[in-house]
Amino acid sequence: MESRTKHTYRTELSEFAKEVLVECPNCQHQALVNTFGETVYKAEKVKVRVVCGYCGFNKDLERIWVRSKHLILGEAIDPFFHLPLWLKIEVNGNLLWAYSFEHLRFIEEHIAAKLRERNGFEHFKTRSVGARLPRWMTAANRREDMLRAIEKLRSK
Ligand SMILES: [Zn+2]
Repeated sequence: MESRTKHTYRTELSEFAKEVLVECPNCQHQALVNTFGETVYKAEKVKVRVVCGYCGFNKDLERIWVRSKHLILGEAIDPFFHLPLWLKIEVNGNLLWAYSFEHLRFIEEHIAAKLRERNGFEHFKTRSVGARLPRWMTAANRREDMLRAIEKLRSK
């Protein structure tokens, strides 16, 4: 059961990994790592490019792609170039991060849903989705901190 939950979360992460906001290694502004719509978790070979709209830095993934070796999903770096993510913030000693604003919204919706669930709303609808996020994100006493941190990130 535990491994199935993790797998689901990984699969979702790979969907969000199609467009990842990172810190430009050249100027530290926001840059975009783009797989051009490829689902990287399944692909054997992918075309991936990082582009900074601020300084013009760009780079293609050059090395031979060995998925099991080079793809890093689930950490505060992009899965391909391993550049630091743009959207990350510390919350109560944990690092909250998201690949994109879309991913951030996904996380926020699930935490908000857990809050409503606690208040007696939408119980059965939200039951399964909360399990897809790491436990510390949805811990009952931390949800409001999480939502505040997300709000801060959104204005970054
Ligand atoms: Zn740049």
